[in-house]
Amino acid sequence: MPPPAAGYTGDPMRTDLIYLDNAATSWPKPREVGEAMVAFLEDSAGNPGRGGHTLARAATATIDEARSAIAGLINAPTPKRVVLTHGCTDSLNLAIHGVMRSTLPQCCGAATPKVVSSCLEHNAVLRTLHCYASAGLIEFQVINCGSDGLIDPGAYLEACDERTVLACLTHASNVLGTIQEVGVIGEGLRTRSPRALFLVDVAQTLGHLPIDVDAGQVDLLAVAGHKGLRGPTGTGALFVGPRAFPDDPEAPRLVCERRGGTGMIGIGLDMPRELPDALEAGTANAVGFAGLLAAMRAECRADHDTERTLTARMIEGLSSIPGVRLFGLPGVEGRTAVVLFNIDGVHPRDAAAALDRDHRIAVRGGVHCAPLAHRAIGTGERGAIRASVGPCNTAADVDALLDAVGRLALAGAGV
Ligand code: PMP
Repeated sequence: MPPPAAGYTGDPMRTDLIYLDNAATSWPKPREVGEAMVAFLEDSAGNPGRGGHTLARAATATIDEARSAIAGLINAPTPKRVVLTHGCTDSLNLAIHGVMRSTLPQCCGAATPKVVSSCLEHNAVLRTLHCYASAGLIEFQVINCGSDGLIDPGAYLEACDERTVLACLTHASNVLGTIQEVGVIGEGLRTRSPRALFLVDVAQTLGHLPIDVDAGQVDLLAVAGHKGLRGPTGTGALFVGPRAFPDDPEAPRLVCERRGGTGMIGIGLDMPRELPDALEAGTANAVGFAGLLAAMRAECRADHDTERTLTARMIEGLSSIPGVRLFGLPGVEGRTAVVLFNIDGVHPRDAAAALDRDHRIAVRGGVHCAPLAHRAIGTGERGAIRASVGPCNTAADVDALLDAVGRLALAGAGV
């Protein structure tokens, strides 16, 4: 087995690794996460929803509590509308394939349905929609951002018409950190395209910014458990609103591709019609949700003021290094804790590798699974370097990055 990355002991102060890749997944996780997962495996690891014995009931209770905690966080009207998934990609696939599966058969002979999205979307959205667009089944329109990384709500809504069945938008770009005007777009969509469902990806914002599915007119909300919520990988959720899955289950606009056992209702070859079972087939990642629940309850909550201060320090410091080019908004206002930059004369992947190898600093170089965002800002296929602080980082971590980038910039300039 390889040695642990940094000899991490559960105490973020006792590692020599400087982790600045929180946009990929948050680290370190609160100590309570590992503890809860071990406790779950030892004391509660029955199959949730399957069986009435003590261990199965304990596992079911964990799943129910995690579902309720997520529902509370996003202001869902009922926990039943929170479908547990294996991550945000899984949630986005469930939403997109689910809408397509219910939409396409009804469109035979009618006008081609349209899906509107933005260049900032993750490949979990882009590739999933591309498979329908490339088969000629939908018209897929991608709205470009400005050089600041913002989507103009007017331009986005302009693209939405009566043929639009789905509108997708990431709340914040994982490349530039820019926070989009989800509420304005959700509101406008209802009048411009009453038929369209609004799918919002909060992978980069839940746990950092307040999210309210009601206020944002959101029909489908895709959640990652392992980023801002600080839970383990392999956990996520999809909020399914009443327009997507009405209480009258005869007419869901979201149909589950995946079928299988749901536990309680085992008779009959059709999937149950009630949420969340209708969209949840197979055994849930119960140990993962035990960890996520513990993360959401952990005393050491994410300190967003610190993240903002550190992000501002990083932007200011990087701006003053000759040969470093920053992308997106000029300051910390309107963005998450994500900073994107390049160093003249150094390939972003080489820079990330050198920061890891020579300075034990973890950042991510490349296109961050969002190729159209990089195309839009001119960083193309090379991409850029992304640094993203989390609640456990310190000013010293940011200064170490600035120092290391300064050295790389000198090397890039041939000094
Ligand atoms: N959407 C966005 C905006 C993301 O940043 C990510 C993760 N990079 C995803 C979706 C996919 O999330 P997951 O890793 O949970 O599948």
